[in-house]
Amino acid sequence: MIAVEHVRKSFGPVPVLKDISLSVPKGGVLSLIGPSGSGKSTLLRCLNLLTIPCEGTIRIGSHAMRFGPDHRMPRDRDLAAFRSTVGMVFQNFNLFPHMSVVQNVMEGPVTVLGRGRDEARDLAIRLLDKVGLREKADAYPDRLSGGQKQRVAIARALAMQPEVMLFDEATSALDPELVGEVLSVVRQLASEGMTMVLVTHEIAFARDVADTCVFMRDGFVVEEGPARQIIEDPQQAATKAFLSHFH
Ligand code: ATP
Ligand code: MG
Repeated sequence: MIAVEHVRKSFGPVPVLKDISLSVPKGGVLSLIGPSGSGKSTLLRCLNLLTIPCEGTIRIGSHAMRFGPDHRMPRDRDLAAFRSTVGMVFQNFNLFPHMSVVQNVMEGPVTVLGRGRDEARDLAIRLLDKVGLREKADAYPDRLSGGQKQRVAIARALAMQPEVMLFDEATSALDPELVGEVLSVVRQLASEGMTMVLVTHEIAFARDVADTCVFMRDGFVVEEGPARQIIEDPQQAATKAFLSHFH
């Protein structure tokens, strides 16, 4: 469902992703862990082509994009079609401050997918209900807690009916008491069979919700395997050293 094949990315002369390959089956959840600067966000951004790989192949469902010296840059229309299959939630919410909660969730379906406003609103309300924020539909983002904003951001991503969801440290900006409400939405999506990649510093969450875990360092995949095994019984010295900070 998600496949990354031999992806390389450099910024100028600096290589940041060095021959990365990984895959996530339909309905699978992969957690991506590693030290700061190891390339986790860059890899996630390559998955929805916010960042264009220098080389390699990215597949999401039936969409595939190849990059390298022998391939032309994709056309904007093809990039947009590809991106619409991928929902992404960032650390910092990125809600539109001048729109109400329900308008935030409707915006993509109306402007990008061309849905009618009534249909988009019905879907938005259903999704707000799913993330526990039905009663906040008409509030503005500045009236919400961080955990509520992040749940709106999740509803907004889901409104595009993506095939996969990517989370880049979705709880890192939250006060500790607000982390749980966001993680429980992610856990619910996992139980419903959403295919997901989670970049997270919540190691227990990475172990419990993900099927597989990938540990990255310095632009490489150092170790990957069943999430519980990687986190409780890592084999590589670099993985052990990284995880020792969390005990
Ligand atoms: P963190 O845990 O701190 O979020 P990360 O694993 O997500 O780290 P990335 O953000 O992917 O790491 O960054 C990997 C490397 O790529 C870093 O050295 C970073 O400085 C560099 N980098 C990322 N984006 C760019 C860019 N647009 N231009 C130049 N260098 C970049
Ligand atoms: Mg990052």
